[in-house]
Amino acid sequence: MNRYDVIIIGSGLGSLLCGFILSKEGFSVCILEKHSSTGGCLQSFERGGNSFDTGIHYIGSMLPGQTLHSYWKYFGLSGMLDLERMNEGCFDMISLDGADYPLAQGFDNFADSLANSFPGSGNFLKHYVTALKETVAAFPLYNFELTDSQTKTTWMSTNAWEFLSSMAGSDPGNRRLLEVLSGNNFLYAGRKAYTPWHQYALINHSFISSAWRLKHGSRQIAQSLINSIISQGGKVLTKKEVRKISSLKNKFQVETSSNEMFVAGRIIAGIHPQSAIGLLEPAMVKKSFRSRIMSMDNTVSSFGLYLGLKPGSFPYLENNLYYHCGTDVWAASEFKAGQWPGTYFLYTPASSRQGGNSSSVCIMSYMGFDEVKRWEHTMTGRRGPDYIAFRNERAEKLLQMVERKFPGIRSSTDTMEISTPLTWRDFTGTPEGSMYGIRKESGNYLRTMLLPHTKIPGFYFTGQNLNMHGAPGVTIGAIMTCSEILGLDYLFNKIRNAQ
Ligand SMILES: Cc1cc2nc3c(=O)[nH]c(=O)nc-3n(C[C@H](O)[C@H](O)[C@H](O)COP(=O)(O)OP(=O)(O)OC[C@H]3O[C@@H](n4cnc5c(N)ncnc54)[C@H](O)[C@@H]3O)c2cc1C
Repeated sequence: MNRYDVIIIGSGLGSLLCGFILSKEGFSVCILEKHSSTGGCLQSFERGGNSFDTGIHYIGSMLPGQTLHSYWKYFGLSGMLDLERMNEGCFDMISLDGADYPLAQGFDNFADSLANSFPGSGNFLKHYVTALKETVAAFPLYNFELTDSQTKTTWMSTNAWEFLSSMAGSDPGNRRLLEVLSGNNFLYAGRKAYTPWHQYALINHSFISSAWRLKHGSRQIAQSLINSIISQGGKVLTKKEVRKISSLKNKFQVETSSNEMFVAGRIIAGIHPQSAIGLLEPAMVKKSFRSRIMSMDNTVSSFGLYLGLKPGSFPYLENNLYYHCGTDVWAASEFKAGQWPGTYFLYTPASSRQGGNSSSVCIMSYMGFDEVKRWEHTMTGRRGPDYIAFRNERAEKLLQMVERKFPGIRSSTDTMEISTPLTWRDFTGTPEGSMYGIRKESGNYLRTMLLPHTKIPGFYFTGQNLNMHGAPGVTIGAIMTCSEILGLDYLFNKIRNAQ
């Protein structure tokens, strides 16, 4: 009964996209999800009548002909999703040291509006936009093309901070502009020492191309993909936590925590690779491969506030806000207790819009796992009073900082939900609640690069750790994974023919 061609572990975006492709291609596919709800970071949750997204707050490049739109057409998502275009003159507001700088959609708009705030920066902005475009051109799949490029690895080994610094030179205006251009670095957990330029460029290029919110939340992406997978003959099962994978006569035997057995010829792990390796029988994994995967560092985690607001008390913002109280935005992810939070990301969900007001707001900041390590062996709802006191104290600190920009937000709050790195760890199964999984490093790009195939025949990776995090990164990653089974030319032509 429980025999399939392919078992996919986890039901995050990468897993669902692989499930879609392979079930469409006639493979019998079964997706096993440990939680009672599907979607991983695509999940939305309800509190006090408001809906909050967990891990996809906005998406880029969704105009017809743009990258994500082209891929998601094949997946039946492009025409189906109810999207709200963010403010074209400002999709991200960067608030730096008390001054606000809008990032506009469209490359000319983007450069022109920043040139207004930074007179004399025209050359820097021209170089910057050209560099974004050249970088994307070097990654054919991001251009919806197949031909491979030679310059890809150069961009992967280029450090984002150093490259931006070399473009900015020593002019003080350009140095401040550099910080503004990196002001949304919560999107990639930017660190001076590590962030590769290609990661910076691919993400920023996508949002400058066009930026969108999901009117009914990110869960509609998961729901649409699941409906398609089921109608194509696949299965998506919840409350099936994969606990162990062993080999069985050239096949894989998968055991869940409730002792159910599944058998498949291929496995795709849409979960963190360090968790995936831990599921495999030790004899199946070469020591060198295990230690390479286990030695990879992860990106930082986050602390989040999900506020339900009194009617008419807070404006609906057609842009996100990235607020920094200092000027070194690249240091923000390393802030600890005394300096914390230093920075936050704030947005009003599209589903919360009530005319010009919003019924809810979501605020996030960085937080390292070491801050909550002492409660690492506790479970949700049973972490104890000292954890609750810690959480509330941090919520208060964050709200005090938000009050500087939005006075009265605390008195406008009706309901408050708080997430910490422990929430993320337990929610996604990612080590230490890391936001974007394995940290890609420009100085070590080969060591921190994960390929879809592994040294175990028939065992593959997908999801945000593979190619890159975020909607386009995970989508291209899923295509890379399924290409290992179907062939890239074959699959790409199918996707192209869907246009
Ligand atoms: C705070 C935050 C904000 C973000 N904002 C954006 C944004 O605005 N735009 C954007 O494009 N991207 C954003 N991202 C990134 C994006 O959400 C992720 O890159 C992407 O959704 C990850 O998908 P995934 O396929 O790797 O799986 P995940 O979403 O990580 O899902 C993994 C799934 O596997 C399940 N699982 C784990 N272990 C097991 C097991 N043993 N057995 C069975 N199931 C298991 C988990 O329960 C989970 O459902 C954000 C991420 C975070 C954390």
